Amino acid sequence: MTADLLVAGGGLAGLVFARRAALAGHRVRLFEAEGVFGGQVTRQDVAGVALDAGAESFATRGGDGPGTVLALLGELGFADDIVAPAAGSPAWVQERSDRAFPLPAAGLLGIPTVLDESLLPALGTDGLARARQDATLPPDEGATAKTLGALVRARMGDRVVDALVAPVVRGVHSTTPDALPLDSASPRLREEFRRTGSLAAAITSIRSTSPAGSQVAGVRGGVFRLVDALVADAAAHGAELTTGAPVTAVAEDGIEVDGRRLRGIPVLARPRRAPDPTRRITVVTLVVEAPAWRGAPRGTGVLVGPAAQSVRARALTHLTAKWPWIREALGEREAVRLSYDGSAVADAADVAVRDAETLLGAPVDLLLDHTVRTWDRWGRAGSGDPVLAVGEEVAGTGLAAVVRQAEALATSLTVERASGHPSGERERMEE
Ligand SMILES: Cc1cc2nc3c(=O)[nH]c(=O)nc-3n(C[C@H](O)[C@H](O)[C@H](O)COP(=O)(O)OP(=O)(O)OC[C@H]3O[C@@H](n4cnc5c(N)ncnc54)[C@H](O)[C@@H]3O)c2cc1C
Repeated sequence: MTADLLVAGGGLAGLVFARRAALAGHRVRLFEAEGVFGGQVTRQDVAGVALDAGAESFATRGGDGPGTVLALLGELGFADDIVAPAAGSPAWVQERSDRAFPLPAAGLLGIPTVLDESLLPALGTDGLARARQDATLPPDEGATAKTLGALVRARMGDRVVDALVAPVVRGVHSTTPDALPLDSASPRLREEFRRTGSLAAAITSIRSTSPAGSQVAGVRGGVFRLVDALVADAAAHGAELTTGAPVTAVAEDGIEVDGRRLRGIPVLARPRRAPDPTRRITVVTLVVEAPAWRGAPRGTGVLVGPAAQSVRARALTHLTAKWPWIREALGEREAVRLSYDGSAVADAADVAVRDAETLLGAPVDLLLDHTVRTWDRWGRAGSGDPVLAVGEEVAGTGLAAVVRQAEALATSLTVERASGHPSGERERMEE
């Protein structure tokens, strides 16, 4: 049996790649090990409502230009279902067990740009005065910083890093600011800082070129809806997609599925290595009766700093406060989702209820339903693999990164095919 392209893995990356390649006229076969497509983009039913179990939003950087999630959603007929998170309610930080404050608006990874008195609860008088020195320090102060932490400490002081940046970096990148390379934090930050000579000015500049409004969006009814639409469209364009079909070997000229060798160009859309145990996370979703949570006491959610020792969660998303469609679907009920480092504990739901009560500062009257799901994560892969690859390992985490890279690879194959070289040599894993 032959096919032009044999895709191993039917998460978002594999599906996006398969659809685009099929649209371009390639013969594509895709094999997904699990019984459902989607990987980390998938649904769960909680209290009778379908919610995202994995990714629930995506970055809107790049607007709706080619290769963006917005463009893909538009092509698949979701333009009217793209939704922004509820306006006017920023996330909060729980710095210590007894100390919470809202994150500054219009910042980047917790770094503030407007250094006014609204920051006093977070920084205190001395911390705010130190942060304001960013405007007057020599422009080369911090210019050689290699990590985000080093740059912010040099420009705005330790308090900004410890109170604001550390909880956000922990929630978004699962690391500390001092271990986060500057270019991974934001590819343009170094360049903009060199140009402007001030950290606040650099961030203001980066933000001004992003689309107005929120930096993330979701899909009414759940981001998981994208999965079925991709599968249907890829199949409509001739791709063959199979679930329950683990790929057991990959060679340069084909793959092995169910003990059968298939010849064609393999495209890896699944991880190649064992998961990184230090990156395992558990997500607990709760649907509760909690009238005291109405009015979004902590905005769209709370990021938990390492010093908040009475809370085991590292972040909470107040789903009914963040997404109006979930509020509509749940009526008077409230939904939150909490993430934890590591595997699920036996009493995960009880722990999550207690954490949610602490983080939202108000009690739960009744737990109506809950789910607990553990996710393995993989770090970024090294270079040198001779096989074409898409997905998180090569693109980095997040739907925006994954979609962009998978679209780019499929498009480059199209170009090469048109020019008589269908092998895709140029897009081998070089990241
Ligand atoms: C809880 C959670 C919340 C998240 N929230 C967000 C968010 O809000 N916004 C955002 O942008 N990103 C979010 N992400 C990250 C985002 O979901 C991922 O970066 C993205 O979905 C990765 O897509 P992928 O196709 O590269 O990998 P995956 O989705 O992991 O897909 C890989 C696929 O390969 C399959 N596979 C594995 N082995 C084999 C084999 N041998 N043969 C065949 N198939 C195989 C797997 O079953 C899987 O379906 C979140 C992730 C998680 C877990």
